[in-house]
Amino acid sequence: MILAINAWCNQFPQLRAHLVTTASDNVVVRPRRTLGEPPLTNVSDAGRLLDYWRPMTGGNVLFGKAGMGLGWGIRGTNTLYASVPRPDRLVTQMTRAVPSLKDSTVLSSWRAPVEYSLSSLPFFGELGGFPGVYFGTGYSGDGIGPSVIGAQILAGLATETRDGMTTSFLARMPSGRGLPREPIRYVGGQLVKTAMIRQDLKQDAEDKVDLATRLTARIDPTSFLG
Ligand SMILES: Cc1cc2nc3c(=O)[nH]c(=O)nc-3n(C[C@H](O)[C@H](O)[C@H](O)COP(=O)(O)OP(=O)(O)OC[C@H]3O[C@@H](n4cnc5c(N)ncnc54)[C@H](O)[C@@H]3O)c2cc1C
Repeated sequence: MILAINAWCNQFPQLRAHLVTTASDNVVVRPRRTLGEPPLTNVSDAGRLLDYWRPMTGGNVLFGKAGMGLGWGIRGTNTLYASVPRPDRLVTQMTRAVPSLKDSTVLSSWRAPVEYSLSSLPFFGELGGFPGVYFGTGYSGDGIGPSVIGAQILAGLATETRDGMTTSFLARMPSGRGLPREPIRYVGGQLVKTAMIRQDLKQDAEDKVDLATRLTARIDPTSFLG
């Protein structure tokens, strides 16, 4: 059996310890006026908590902001598949990033879960305690292309094929014990996430980031090499 359920792998304690479940908030807007030159194109900035936007057919624009939520325990992924809790904040961020979208009409918005592995690389394998059950997860927000490779690894594992895919470094559990249990995991995660958001806002405004914020943001476990 193959569990190609990505962020929902967080329901298994064996895997949850190696995943941080966060969310991306998205909004689709109709600009107040037709956007002129230069034409809006697909953009993803270089921030740790990405801002991204792209034009859609019909003149609408999709804007998204990564890293805005945090899942608690076994229910973490489902609770992050929801409406955006603070649409006003998302729209403010959109206008800050793309000023020409000021006063746009909001057509829809949603929040969706994204699982980060502690190495930011996906991992695949047989689920501990469940022989013959294989999983793939940890795409860390970049799984559109890599999930094709993931499918090949999972197919190889399920058919007990020994090849470059099934023996690659991706086809094994991350080392170490992973993250602590709840509530330490959630409380610590909230502290770090809040610092990351504060750092992000300060950097956007080209303000100095205070030492406490920088040091706390640096604890981001998904920036460690596994
Ligand atoms: C808002 C957002 C923006 C993103 N942007 C990008 C991007 O620009 N580039 C990029 O590379 N990646 C991006 N990603 C990440 C990318 O979508 C994922 O890494 C990729 O889709 C993983 O593919 P997958 O097939 O493993 O899992 P998914 O596409 O997540 O599919 C998993 C499926 O399993 C289903 N499922 C869960 N539990 C069960 C169950 N118990 N029974 C049956 N089905 C179940 C879910 O409903 C879901 O449909 C983004 C993710 C989000 C949320």
